[in-house]
Amino acid sequence: MTEIVPESPQPATVWAERYGNALMNTFGPPQRVLVRGEGPWVWDADGARYLDLLAGIAVNTLGHAHPTLVSAVSAQLGTLGHVSNFFATPTQVHLAERLLEIVEPDGAPAGSRVFLANSGTEAMEGAFKLARRHGGGARPRILALEGAFHGRTMGALALTHKAAYRDPFAPLPGGVEHLPFGDVDALAAAMGDDVAAVVLEPLQGEAGVRPLPPGYLAAARELTTRHGALLILDEVQTGMGRTGRWMAHHHEHIGGGVVPDIVVLAKGLAGGMPIGAVVALGEGPATLLGPGQHGTTFGGNPVVSAAALATMHVVERDHLLTAVTERGRQLRDGISGLGHPLVAGVRGEGLLLAVMLTRPVAKEVAQAALEAGYIVNPVAPDAVRLAPPFVLSAEQAAQFVADLPAVLDTGGTV
Ligand SMILES: *Cc1c(COP(=O)(O)O)cnc(C)c1O
Repeated sequence: MTEIVPESPQPATVWAERYGNALMNTFGPPQRVLVRGEGPWVWDADGARYLDLLAGIAVNTLGHAHPTLVSAVSAQLGTLGHVSNFFATPTQVHLAERLLEIVEPDGAPAGSRVFLANSGTEAMEGAFKLARRHGGGARPRILALEGAFHGRTMGALALTHKAAYRDPFAPLPGGVEHLPFGDVDALAAAMGDDVAAVVLEPLQGEAGVRPLPPGYLAAARELTTRHGALLILDEVQTGMGRTGRWMAHHHEHIGGGVVPDIVVLAKGLAGGMPIGAVVALGEGPATLLGPGQHGTTFGGNPVVSAAALATMHVVERDHLLTAVTERGRQLRDGISGLGHPLVAGVRGEGLLLAVMLTRPVAKEVAQAALEAGYIVNPVAPDAVRLAPPFVLSAEQAAQFVADLPAVLDTGGTV
């Protein structure tokens, strides 16, 4: 490694300066320069250790450097690394089959198919193209929600709601309308036979871990079915076990038993390797795109597919969905139970949680947490997001809860 990535020890300040001189300033200054990870821990260039309660934004479900993931990726790369989609690989086929097994509690309906991509935004882009193909020119409208985040490429960006992300890139692909969040009447009023798709996150991650109100998804399913529109669920952040079930919509109180037409996955799917997936449920949605109508060079890459299979294997072998539910409950109850004046409540599901604050000091709280050795995320001015790896232990969660009052006191003084 040393010959390829020069590792001469340098203080973090030097790395930060070199970062600024070499990388585009799309993310703002990095908070730390990280050099190593193990389990839920990461170390920075100055040797400081942090408990990673964000997991690369809900990505590293097995934590860092998980031995099963490392060996699966290494073995696949040492066997066959990339072939393009002129060819198939057993790894890619296995992954698609596994996704069809878990995407619905009893397996995907007959005729369902998977498209493998490389990121969340790219998978959403694929879902957008499916929506465009559905009903052809007779269905020019796509409905999404205020607060929605669906990615940054042009189609996905058209579905994303935030003006600061969209406005500099106008004109975006047309036909997308954003409806008030969680308002069934507004959805019913907007629905029509000219709607190609309704696009929803079961819980809006980037909007501050905001769950759809109970009953909304079921109502959306009923309305889309009645009008012949597709129901597209963006489970990029909420899927693959993050909420304690394989998919967030599998929870009765979230999904209400609905089967969507399309489920979009990414983030945690391959435990840290770049991947996205569009799962089209049933023959209708699964046959909207034919040969030549969509593609990607890397999608289905065997190394990344092996990472996804290894991640799913460990989640099942080590009963991590149960661990997600238990750790989530522990964090939620522990933080609520602190009775701290800055905590308004905790919302979310499983290990996708937001600590809601009574004042808009999430940035300051996240900064104080970092100084105290915890990585968390100020996802909204008044919301601190926690999305730890599924392997977080009860002791580690308890330590965070114990240290949180001091962090809140420090962050709350500004
Ligand atoms: C992160 C995210 C995306 C975009 O995924 P990228 O891999 O960052 O492109 C899309 N939808 C949701 C709900 C997300 O959380």
